[in-house]
Amino acid sequence: MTDQTRETTPPLPAGATIGILGGGQLGRMLSVAAARLGYRCHVYEPGARPPAGDVSAALTTASYDDTAALRAFAQAVDVITYEFENIPTAALDLLEAERPIRPGRKALATSQDRLTEKRFLRELGLSTAPFAAVDDAGDLDRALDEIGAPAILKTRRFGYDGKGQARITRPEDAAQALAALNGAPAVLEGFVDFTHEISVIGARGADGQISCYDPGENLHRDGILHTTTVPARLSAAQRTDAVLIAARILNALDYTGVMGVELFVTPQGLIVNEIAPRVHNSGHWTQQGCAVDQFEQHIRAIAGLPLGDGQRYADVTMENLIGDDVARLPALCGEPATAVHLYGKADPRPGRKMGHVNRIQPARR
Ligand code: AMP
Repeated sequence: MTDQTRETTPPLPAGATIGILGGGQLGRMLSVAAARLGYRCHVYEPGARPPAGDVSAALTTASYDDTAALRAFAQAVDVITYEFENIPTAALDLLEAERPIRPGRKALATSQDRLTEKRFLRELGLSTAPFAAVDDAGDLDRALDEIGAPAILKTRRFGYDGKGQARITRPEDAAQALAALNGAPAVLEGFVDFTHEISVIGARGADGQISCYDPGENLHRDGILHTTTVPARLSAAQRTDAVLIAARILNALDYTGVMGVELFVTPQGLIVNEIAPRVHNSGHWTQQGCAVDQFEQHIRAIAGLPLGDGQRYADVTMENLIGDDVARLPALCGEPATAVHLYGKADPRPGRKMGHVNRIQPARR
């Protein structure tokens, strides 16, 4: 890009306030990164004692239909970002009238609905699992005829960590799968026979500059991310393909900020599973692998600062600490070359993300 075409909006000044919708661990780590760059964060979260509240300059505890609280929040901040994608549309309409929301509405509208997202990816010429919209039993029968089993029925909205999904191993499982989703609008996806799963964490600055992190290889347990390892098992060509796919998506959405792109690796090429318009659990390794991690990169992008050096300087395995895993804290603290990140959550319920560790080694290449 030449200097003539570069956007000239000045970056957010030191001391400016970034509003974050959602007060979970992603908001917490965004807030810490923002503080390192001299910004203040104001978190908006309906739940009590959110992890991000402990490390932010201000916290609003209110629901997403509290218009007075939303307006006061917007007026107290300079720019608004978010750590989850299921923000109600009416709240976004209100907020957007007051302050810029980054990443913008197109990314949110696309990723809030699996069907819209899959159609968008196909229109870009990218590969996805075969899919069909399912609103009732008749649709599901037709979709199964077309796509075949095994397949996965997924709700169009509000799915995360494998929730809102039902496997269909044989056509006879159809009624049970439909019942499991409680009649929610859904998408049937053909089962992808992948060798492994990877993700690319990509960033796009306000000026259109793009920087993608090295793809990470993801292992799930019980539908929840267990580990991300860099480098992923990929050929040089696959690595390039993965990064180009992420860049295509970022540009098409005219995106500002960090995005997670999950991909299936198959002998026929890379298949896009889903996109997340935010910092991503599979990008936590960047905290120890890179000079500028995904959280700082996101803050830089939405603040209008130049993106930082996202090159990988170490081999890293990130392991999530789920539920009682956090009881291993003393042993983890004693491990060499291991960084521990806890989210400040009091109650280690099964399936709850309590923290993560990054284990590092010098980069092999
Ligand atoms: P999702 O919430 O859509 O990311 O799905 C969670 C996990 O389920 C993925 O990371 C995969 O391990 C698996 N999965 C989802 N969709 C498919 C598919 N179409 N084919 C095979 N495995 C899938």
